[in-house]
Amino acid sequence: MSYCVNCGVELEASQRQCPLCGVEVNNPARPYDPTLPRPYSAHIVRIQARLERRYLAWIITVLMILIAIVCVMVDLVYYGSVSWSLYVALSLALSWITVLFPLLAASMHPVMLVLLDACALLAFLYVLNESDPSSDWYLRLAMPQVMLFGMLGLLNVFLWRSSFVHGWQKISVVVVSIGVAMMGLETLLDLFNDMAVTLDWSWFVIIPAFAVGLIFFILERKRLLKDAITKRLRI
Ligand SMILES: [Zn+2]
Repeated sequence: MSYCVNCGVELEASQRQCPLCGVEVNNPARPYDPTLPRPYSAHIVRIQARLERRYLAWIITVLMILIAIVCVMVDLVYYGSVSWSLYVALSLALSWITVLFPLLAASMHPVMLVLLDACALLAFLYVLNESDPSSDWYLRLAMPQVMLFGMLGLLNVFLWRSSFVHGWQKISVVVVSIGVAMMGLETLLDLFNDMAVTLDWSWFVIIPAFAVGLIFFILERKRLLKDAITKRLRI
């Protein structure tokens, strides 16, 4: 049995740090052995962190609802109708769905979260478009763009969870997706503005994105190859 040199707490061989004061355990007679059962589960620490995040998310949710109510009341009292406060309330609702809801619904499948975010964004932009009778950007610009982002998001979730993509290749997937998203955005903007696609600024994103994606892809391939060779040699 080891004891902490700083505070004297009894320590297990599966502990790298003193649980009380955090001092590193260094006992040459009884070195650290990660295979031994831990005195307490790391799962509990994770659950505690998740509960704290949920608690914070609930507090922010209540604050957001209060801000929305106050804005609508002020709007009604001073202007006699719900005008600008509608946008405040909708922006708060959109932020809640995209940022806080994933914290509260931790067990929800990521695919469902991406779909929910895309639908919320589509609804938000639809209301914005409808509030101005002269605007016509919803069907031609906003909707296809959100759908493209949504599909890229789903593709990322699928590849990250699949067995095709390993380690650093996940970074490749994200970086290349950003490049494709920017190319899509410029294509849609070009079509919306002058009905002709002339890719211009998006090249400054696409080329570096593909280069960085390729580098991470190759690095991971090399790492896997090195691991395979090392394993072979040991056998
Ligand atoms: Zn200690």
